[in-house]
Amino acid sequence: MHHMTLAEIARGLADKKFSSEELTKVLLARIAQLDPQLNSFISLTEELALGQAKAADARRANGESGALLGAPIAHKDLFCTLGIRTSCGSKMLDNFKAPYDATVVAKLAAAGTVTLGKTNMDEFAMGSANESSYYGSVKNPWNLEHVPGGSSGGSAAAVAARLLPAATATDTGGSIRQPAAFTNLTGLKPTYGRVSRWGMIAYASSLDQGGPLARTAEDCAILLQGMAGFDPNDSTSIDEPVPDYRASLNGSLQGLRIGVPKEYFSAGLDPRIAERVHNSVKELEKLGAIIKEISLPNMQHAIPAYYVIAPAEASSNLSRFDGVRFGYRCENPENLIDLYKRSRGEGFGAEVQRRIMVGAYALSAGYYDAYYLKAQKIRRLVKNDFMAAFNEVDIILGPTTPNPAWKLGAKTSDPVAEYLEDVYTITANLAGLPGLSMPAGFVDGLPVGVQLLAPYFQEGRLLNVAHQYQLNTDWHTRTPTGF
Ligand code: GLN
Repeated sequence: MHHMTLAEIARGLADKKFSSEELTKVLLARIAQLDPQLNSFISLTEELALGQAKAADARRANGESGALLGAPIAHKDLFCTLGIRTSCGSKMLDNFKAPYDATVVAKLAAAGTVTLGKTNMDEFAMGSANESSYYGSVKNPWNLEHVPGGSSGGSAAAVAARLLPAATATDTGGSIRQPAAFTNLTGLKPTYGRVSRWGMIAYASSLDQGGPLARTAEDCAILLQGMAGFDPNDSTSIDEPVPDYRASLNGSLQGLRIGVPKEYFSAGLDPRIAERVHNSVKELEKLGAIIKEISLPNMQHAIPAYYVIAPAEASSNLSRFDGVRFGYRCENPENLIDLYKRSRGEGFGAEVQRRIMVGAYALSAGYYDAYYLKAQKIRRLVKNDFMAAFNEVDIILGPTTPNPAWKLGAKTSDPVAEYLEDVYTITANLAGLPGLSMPAGFVDGLPVGVQLLAPYFQEGRLLNVAHQYQLNTDWHTRTPTGF
């Protein structure tokens, strides 16, 4: 039962082959048995899940239908869930029970999803390896000595290990796409503004975007359908109609213009990944796509710009965690300043503190123009590169990551080495564009992802290309041994 995709589950439920309650029990038992190896959950919500499953079964018995009605999922632990711990992977919020549901959580619950739990993540979504979590590292089911990617490593490891069919995640600089690549999943970061950020604990507000992590493009379409849409509670939410994503899956790729940026194939890229990317290009060519070399000349400036803008926004967003209003408070403060200092010093981990300091520095008087303003100008250049490229092509294709998943601990003492791994993903966040990662082969038994980028609001196009690719390849069907 645990091998089923969301699409298969929907069919099985509709045909009364099993109930949501039965499926939920099977998956909860599987999580109890296998998650100790992976550490992909921070909280399990068995009671909530069984209640939601029974309610979904009752709705079906009353004649309701829907692809998500009775579908078991989990939420990354930065989506607020009413009455349930929402930790953001941090000691700071270890005792925080959200007083409301995030819009994404509420929308999915209304569509009938069953929440099995809250998944592990890098602290405040800062990281590319899921090693900065207060709750410990997550292991990659493809090789338990390797990282699953981050920051949505818990969602990715759980879905890859068949503990559940799909999960929500968020992507500020690659945190959906990069763990998807590292664990052989399909993950979609929507256009900025497509999915409401209300109730998503903020890391860098101008970059953060929620999206689906699943095993197939079709399942990403199903989950995105339940997540996307205008939300008056989020001032950056965009009031555009949500298309039927599943309906777009079957379009032909005949004549589709795919751009491959020459800058992507620099010395930093593992040649074995380059080869897998070229194979995926050949496959898409067979399906009728036309391949064109393009250029994104400002790509090299994206990492330094991102690692100024994201920490700057984080330093501002995280100022609310002061020991007074939310979460952790130090013992016996001597005075107000001591309360602030020790609550923050004890409640935040090392990487979060590093970023708050970098961000506060970049925003300080005298340095603002040199760092923050400069980074914003680069951001515009990165966007302009994409706009020029999309005049020539419909889709941009390349690797999702320069390397496969590294060993646990390999980069923990060198934060910059970890930042450099984000080179292919962060540009989409800087420009606000949608991006998808899909499985495209293996290197030393570890999965490789190919990234597709599209113009604003063309999530349907990305899902279409990935679905057609998946109809003609079987990488996405491979299962990690032991799971
Ligand atoms: N690795 C990037 C960072 O640490 C992206 C994280 C994310 O997308 N949340 O900022």
